[in-house]
Amino acid sequence: MAAIENSKPHLVDSYGRVGRKLRLSVTDKCNFRCNFCMPETPEWIPNANVLSFEEIVQLVRILSDFGVDRVRLSGGEPLVRRDIENLVGMISRLEGIKKIGMTTNGFFLKEKAKALRASGLQSVTVSLHSLRRDRFSTVTSVDSHSRVLEGIKAAKDAGYDSVKLNCVIIRGYNDDEILDFASLAYNEGYNVRFIEYMPFDGRRNWGMGKVVSGEEMLSIIRSRFQIVPLEREKGSTALNFKFADGEGEFGIITSITRPFCSDCDRLRLTADGKLVPCLFDNHEYDLSKLLRGGASDEEISEFLRASVRLKAPGVESLLKASTSLKHVRPMYVTGG
Ligand code: SAM
Ligand code: SF4
Repeated sequence: MAAIENSKPHLVDSYGRVGRKLRLSVTDKCNFRCNFCMPETPEWIPNANVLSFEEIVQLVRILSDFGVDRVRLSGGEPLVRRDIENLVGMISRLEGIKKIGMTTNGFFLKEKAKALRASGLQSVTVSLHSLRRDRFSTVTSVDSHSRVLEGIKAAKDAGYDSVKLNCVIIRGYNDDEILDFASLAYNEGYNVRFIEYMPFDGRRNWGMGKVVSGEEMLSIIRSRFQIVPLEREKGSTALNFKFADGEGEFGIITSITRPFCSDCDRLRLTADGKLVPCLFDNHEYDLSKLLRGGASDEEISEFLRASVRLKAPGVESLLKASTSLKHVRPMYVTGG
């Protein structure tokens, strides 16, 4: 059993893992159509089913009573949700919440970075999958490269605790840019996170042949840079490194070839109020139905306890149990 540090009740699954971080999808809508994420014709969650800010905050408050103290807003694209800074402010005022971050495609960050910071957002991760304008436009389907770069700069200027870059590496698309991204981290001090391609693409194009393993990424980076591993924080999805003689850091997220399921401390909430205990598992638990049916906080808490107890052990066992992971919901629904 994982150690439980204080007397506060926690959400513990049947493998002893304790839920501490919430990945909150605030919308499934997005202004991009990244071809490794969105289907050609997405089926959007009807607006009436999307949780209101008040409903989200009620659920986050109940979760925080269980010791969930870190929240990351995601989507879809969180910045297309109107007045998102108000939600950030509402969550940051909850007593139990210690950290609030956001993962964004960066398109609207230039306009929003300051207001979000002022509302209490502490860290931002911007997805940037290519340093080449044409390539970026092809994958996102929007000519957006320069705006995203401006957004990243605006976030740096707004004084966030951290600004990270997410880069999903796909064989044959951008694996020839691994050294360019490592150089960006080395030369400009960015924290770049190299992510293995996961089977959550809406177009069902994923295959192991397109996955560049973390090991392979590391050996490419080592061909030019001297790197030093950093201690892995419990529950972290990344193997982190720094440069022996430079400022920047980078992380490798090996969700496919070396998943860290045994100490996973994440829970996910979809925009329509479904609790998703494991990204790789299709089971989800409808909190919205309870919430909108007038359930008390205690009833919702009991449902949360029971749902988290059913969390799947993780990627490896799911891979063994089914022939393919291709049937799991696409990334724009769970928020990564
Ligand atoms: N729209 C925001 C963005 O793109 O950053 C937030 C939502 S997006 C679903 C969250 C993260 O998941 C992004 O960094 C994105 O690149 C990543 N992602 C999307 N599809 C993926 C896939 N098939 N494999 C790995 N990561 C993926
Ligand atoms: Fe939108 Fe993010 Fe998915 Fe790209 S990865 S389509 S930006 S939700």
